[in-house]
Amino acid sequence: MAEKRTATNHRPKYKVIKSIAHGFAQSFVSMENFEEGEYVMDLLIIEMLKQDKDSLKIDILSARLAPKCLNSNEITTAVNHYCRKFFPRMSAAHGFADCPFENATMSLQFDFLNASACSADAQTVLVPYRCQTEIMDDRGQTHNCCLNEAEVFSLTVWRSLTKITPKYTGSGPRPYHQCENR
Ligand SMILES: [Zn+2]
Repeated sequence: MAEKRTATNHRPKYKVIKSIAHGFAQSFVSMENFEEGEYVMDLLIIEMLKQDKDSLKIDILSARLAPKCLNSNEITTAVNHYCRKFFPRMSAAHGFADCPFENATMSLQFDFLNASACSADAQTVLVPYRCQTEIMDDRGQTHNCCLNEAEVFSLTVWRSLTKITPKYTGSGPRPYHQCENR
């Protein structure tokens, strides 16, 4: 029979929740953990440009992406993968096997107007984005991770979907990353 957890031996675990928030965001925006199909960030940019949207929100615990118009089959497959497989697996690896969170969301906001092209690589455009992941634990405390980076996107596809002329910069936007407990 499992030993009942006390508040004392339970507490230190909460510090790792920001690592879960970070791991989810980092994995979602990188290609590492999704092997099937296309890269979800590119799929999202394409769909968002078509639908004239620049932000989205994923309710991780229910695997729901809003706005609804972005839910193509491929995007839904990717969201399900990250929310129903990757997130529980990563939570379990960090000691939260039963995923006991009140809330978990990821917001993604693209800054299409400030897309820029590097002079070094004429084939791609850098699309700045802000990705904020927030997990509320079972005590109501929020843990978050914020990524401010830029997605490397095909300039050809960009041109076919938007009239926005990318700004040409030498180095492109500088990424920064922030994790915090509140
Ligand atoms: Zn982080």
